[in-house]
Amino acid sequence: MAKQQHLHCSFCGKSKQEVKLLIAGQDGHICESCVENAHEILAQELVASSITTPAPIASKLSVKKPIETKKFLDEYVIGQDDAKKILAVAVYNHYKRLDQKIENDVEIEKSNIIMVGETGTGKTLLAKSIARMLNVPFAIVDATVFTEAGYVGEDVESMLSRLLQSCNYDVAAAERGIVYIDEIDKIARKSDNPSITRDVSGEGVQQGLLKLLEGSDVLVPPQGGRKHPEQKLIKVNTQNILFICGGAFDGIDRIIARRINTNAIGFNVNKELQDFQHNNLLQFINAVDLKHFGLIPELLGRLPVVTYLNPLDAPTLRCILTEPKNALVKQFTRLFEIEGIELKFEDAVLDFMVEKALEYKLGARGLRSICESILNEAMYEMPSQNVKRFDVTIEYAISKFNTSKLSMLKVA
Ligand code: ADP
Repeated sequence: MAKQQHLHCSFCGKSKQEVKLLIAGQDGHICESCVENAHEILAQELVASSITTPAPIASKLSVKKPIETKKFLDEYVIGQDDAKKILAVAVYNHYKRLDQKIENDVEIEKSNIIMVGETGTGKTLLAKSIARMLNVPFAIVDATVFTEAGYVGEDVESMLSRLLQSCNYDVAAAERGIVYIDEIDKIARKSDNPSITRDVSGEGVQQGLLKLLEGSDVLVPPQGGRKHPEQKLIKVNTQNILFICGGAFDGIDRIIARRINTNAIGFNVNKELQDFQHNNLLQFINAVDLKHFGLIPELLGRLPVVTYLNPLDAPTLRCILTEPKNALVKQFTRLFEIEGIELKFEDAVLDFMVEKALEYKLGARGLRSICESILNEAMYEMPSQNVKRFDVTIEYAISKFNTSKLSMLKVA
């Protein structure tokens, strides 16, 4: 008993009475707070050592020719051929740049890309599919979380932290990775004129992005967020990092229409083509329109490739339901199959889902919620029943959809 009272932590010296727990070792003891401190020190040291002794760079780059890249993208993304071709070429050239020898004086500059298209048309999906194919580090970041240094928000440099995290802090690998910046339109400056008051989440962020995009040494906080003085920073050179930006740029069609004066189109074209061009002005987008929207010229200069995504029409939405490798219908069929149930949709049900997605202006993203609203009850009940086959008829689909919360969402 007397011996028990003299027990103390061999690290901090606290007695057994002062701590919650004392763990015994061979010649000493350790208390719970020293275990926690040791754990923190260990985590920091492991990050630091993986920075100084990086894992070997991913094995030699496997270069895919642009045509092969497009074929790969076709398996996951329906339509959007122009954007796919432009991305395929940009990624291919990015690889070629990485491989080039510096011995001759022609230096190929990188072609950062900007993709413009309504929300839910497949911009992120394209970026993700490219990532799936590549063996370079890849990170997706959202432009809206960044603010100019000194304000509440994240430093732009923290987007490189995500890239570093994606390759386990292998700086050399990160230095030839790809970053997808989503919602780039949300950092447009508030007016076309240079701001008089500070615009910390718009123009301020664009200014911050300049040095990342053009290629320079950047000090990156390893865990992301805001840089602070006591932190160990990692130096990353962005010369070979490819940046792909995406945004919906709501209302940019009006800017394009004004520029090209759409009335001029169509003297010699048929009505159908004229309508198509009216509805799909994005195909004529260029850097001037983006500048009018609020991106600063210096930023546009560093994003030389501009491409667009088409809005999704009914036939495209119909294909999205069934054709991609992980199409919605395939996913639900699999979910039922795991339960031992064969799921079959009537064609009319698929048409109905597309019709509702368009009617409710939900786009491709909405197809999933519509499908869920139709199948939810069955997915709730059937695992407890002995069902072998489930045919979703149009009557069933309409009745389930009409009683779901989703049907109340109708847009005026
Ligand atoms: P955004 O353009 O807003 O980045 P996303 O790429 O996130 O849109 O698309 C949302 C979802 O819609 C995707 O997860 C995908 O299931 C579906 N989708 C959108 N466009 C397509 C497409 N062209 N082909 C296949 N699926 C698509």
